[in-house]
Amino acid sequence: MDLMDKLVSLAKRRGFIFPSSEIYGGLNGCWDYGPMGVELKRNVKEAWWQDMVARHDETQAIDGAPSAFSMVGLDSSILMNPRVWEASGHVSGFSDPMVDCRETRNRYRADQLVIFGIVKDNQNNISIDENALLFASPGELGKTNDNELLAHHKKQAKKTIKALGEFKLIQIPNALADEKLRARTIAPSASKPGTLTEPRSFNLMFQTHVGALKDNSSAAYLRPETAQGIFANFKNVCDTARVRLPFGIAQLGKAFRNEINPRNFTFRSREFEQMEIEFFCKPEEADDWYLYWRNSRYEWYINLGIQKDKLHLREHETDELAHYAKSCADVEYEFPFGVSELEGIANRSNFDLRQHMEHSGKDLRYLDDLEQEKEKRRFLPYVIEPSAGADRATLAFMCNAYTEDEISGEKRTVMKFHPKLAPIKAAIFPLVKKDGMPDKALSIYRQLRTHFPVSYDEKGAIGRRYRRQDEAGTPFCVTIDGETMKDDTVTLRERDTCEQIRLPINEIVEHIVEQLI
Ligand code: ATP
Repeated sequence: MDLMDKLVSLAKRRGFIFPSSEIYGGLNGCWDYGPMGVELKRNVKEAWWQDMVARHDETQAIDGAPSAFSMVGLDSSILMNPRVWEASGHVSGFSDPMVDCRETRNRYRADQLVIFGIVKDNQNNISIDENALLFASPGELGKTNDNELLAHHKKQAKKTIKALGEFKLIQIPNALADEKLRARTIAPSASKPGTLTEPRSFNLMFQTHVGALKDNSSAAYLRPETAQGIFANFKNVCDTARVRLPFGIAQLGKAFRNEINPRNFTFRSREFEQMEIEFFCKPEEADDWYLYWRNSRYEWYINLGIQKDKLHLREHETDELAHYAKSCADVEYEFPFGVSELEGIANRSNFDLRQHMEHSGKDLRYLDDLEQEKEKRRFLPYVIEPSAGADRATLAFMCNAYTEDEISGEKRTVMKFHPKLAPIKAAIFPLVKKDGMPDKALSIYRQLRTHFPVSYDEKGAIGRRYRRQDEAGTPFCVTIDGETMKDDTVTLRERDTCEQIRLPINEIVEHIVEQLI
């Protein structure tokens, strides 16, 4: 079983993540978080909110921000006036090129299918035989210049072509846009060439209708990102929150995208949660703030336990940038299915505010009225946008935590979450179900649960109870035994090392809370 299969199976077994509406066969691209998963994802979102909004001053001190700034929160509605999405460019431009395979009925994003041609291996001057077949291989994110990914595609294509022998594969860009090349292309899992349709533009926004009438005038969209709710409220926040530049507005919440090809567990879903910041600053300071946010967002994942060698900060090439973006970087994680984006950080200039000012007719310029400045200046601030996904971050923390090891000759699976993210912080066990131990354990359980989430378990051998908690990622297990009944001490077992210490009952809370900071 590969790592992803093992993780999906653990997620189901321990109540982290289930397919949505599973009893009816599920719904592609939708997932439900079970009792463990909901705690884990809440902790991810809470860590983000605490670090980015509530206690951002501390983060700022660590990373040496260019100057002091305020951060405020927002919770805007999912349905908004559709003109928001006209202004933002989503109605006309938020689409992916889609192709269908007429034989297998599979649907692909054209930019994620990598098309290969076969050439003779000894050929230096690469030209493809006019009639030779081409092979399409499904990729993630369409990063065709990435050597590792290319190697992966080649491996896949070789599976299709039984005897590659003296031939080698080369990649052919934009092949699907060309009718003749399309006719010679074999789609993944197809038996003959020419089954792929011409790429068609497919808008990713889910449309719905507001009110009883179902016509164009009542059309609305489920938001495909939380960011536009922030821009639409920029003036409200400026007028009411007494914020001065530079400052940020943060929002987390659901977003919906009718993804052509949802896959890789929760990585690419149709309903997901975003954690977004729009950070407004003076245009001349934008480059510095961009660097600040890029580095500080990378550090955030490291501080929560992501292995440094699996987390990359990838600066976009100039030809990858959107026309309005000055610079952009992705925080990428080495998932078992490949290196993929967790978060994007972009300097979006004043594009969004300018668009909304033009479309709404409202003056969204910021009035710089610092007392010492004689001349008041009105201008549109620049914006730095760190845009993260709560589900992708949660999946990365799960992949990062998944460990198989051996303790005293016994194999186990353990989720080594940072204690701050662990769904349950401690499990309380009476060693046996007699001699007053369950009552004592229950009273400790009741005391601890006022401080952090805990669970109580009296069923089965102690070793099995430990294994269950290891799979749930619980950092501490507290066992009540014969000695507890005499001197009010317990054993505290640490998840990663399995080391046990003896501790007075009244020191348990302090000991655990220290690890949660
Ligand atoms: P991708 O290239 O993977 O489609 P994107 O560049 O379109 O992503 P953004 O529009 O920048 O993504 O969205 C910001 C963040 O929201 C992403 O970094 C990701 O964490 C999250 N996100 C976007 N689409 C999805 C999705 N379909 N499922 C889960 N999370 C998503």
